[in-house]
Amino acid sequence: QAKAAGRDTLRFFASAMQVSVTARALLENQLRNAAGKNQFELHYQAQVKGDGTLIGAEALVRWHHPTRGMLLPAAFIGLAEESGQILALGRWILEAGCAQLARWQNKPLTASVRLAINVSARQFRHPRFVDDVYRAIRESGADPHQLKLEMTESVLFDDIYDTSARMSEIRKLGVGFSLDDFGTGYSSLSYLKILPIDQLKIDQSFVRDVQTNKGDAAIARTIVSLADSFGLEVIAEGVENRGQRDHLAALGCHSYQGFLFNRPMPASQFEQRLGQPFVSENMRMH
Ligand code: C2E
Ligand code: MG
Ligand code: MG
Ligand code: MG
Repeated sequence: QAKAAGRDTLRFFASAMQVSVTARALLENQLRNAAGKNQFELHYQAQVKGDGTLIGAEALVRWHHPTRGMLLPAAFIGLAEESGQILALGRWILEAGCAQLARWQNKPLTASVRLAINVSARQFRHPRFVDDVYRAIRESGADPHQLKLEMTESVLFDDIYDTSARMSEIRKLGVGFSLDDFGTGYSSLSYLKILPIDQLKIDQSFVRDVQTNKGDAAIARTIVSLADSFGLEVIAEGVENRGQRDHLAALGCHSYQGFLFNRPMPASQFEQRLGQPFVSENMRMH
């Protein structure tokens, strides 16, 4: 009896695993065809000063899946990295982002907008990455001085000198670098003196409870002071209400990104949104 039950359990797990392996293979296949079928789209979220002045935008990829609707990066970026498809997807993101930046640079209202594009560690590590960046800039005609690449600390698990050389190669064009989700990784701080970085992004996990949690506030304040000491810009992400923004301002952080200002949206909507100030959104929250 117990043995039979055990076998059934085993069979159950095996078939559950089978389903997930099949589902994963299916998703991987759909992902492979997605770019060709025009299913990816970049959404843009504003980066602003305390008074709502626009500094720039971050490009965030979305996948319009044939049956599941719009998927967020959490549903497919990991798979793209594990299956090696991140290089092709990342190249599409670079091209689409640079093309959008060039279009914005050609319109008076958006000419000074800076664009941040996320780069995954695996994508950055690929031997063709530097070429891809050069090509995306050349073919779009975008001014690279208004382009920033966001990377997490996980790129720093590689050879720091190799990483630094690659970044310098890209920096020659005028492209900047931002360390995303700063403070959540396990890397040593010594890379801050080696790498050509321009900006630290305070992760939203420290922003969420910055008003009530002393530890989070201490980390946010430390990141601001680190940025000051190294002459870097600092921006807080995931700012959802005025209380968080005001608290961050008191800690010395004056650039923000988050739902308080706007949700990520398609380029056309983002452009319409530029007609109004960015602070008045989400009044309901306060
Ligand atoms: P991230 O780069 O740290 O992006 C910030 C994430 O926080 C975005 O989620 C954004 O929609 C969300 N967010 C913005 N403001 C708020 C807020 O006020 N409250 C809350 N709760 N969330 C907020 P999203 O778009 O789902 O992206 C998640 C992550 O996926 C990104 O984190 C980034 O690591 C990755 N990702 C997004 N786009 C790309 C891409 O084009 N390439 C690569 N390699 N990774 C990407
Ligand atoms: Mg980012
Ligand atoms: Mg982040
Ligand atoms: Mg994050």
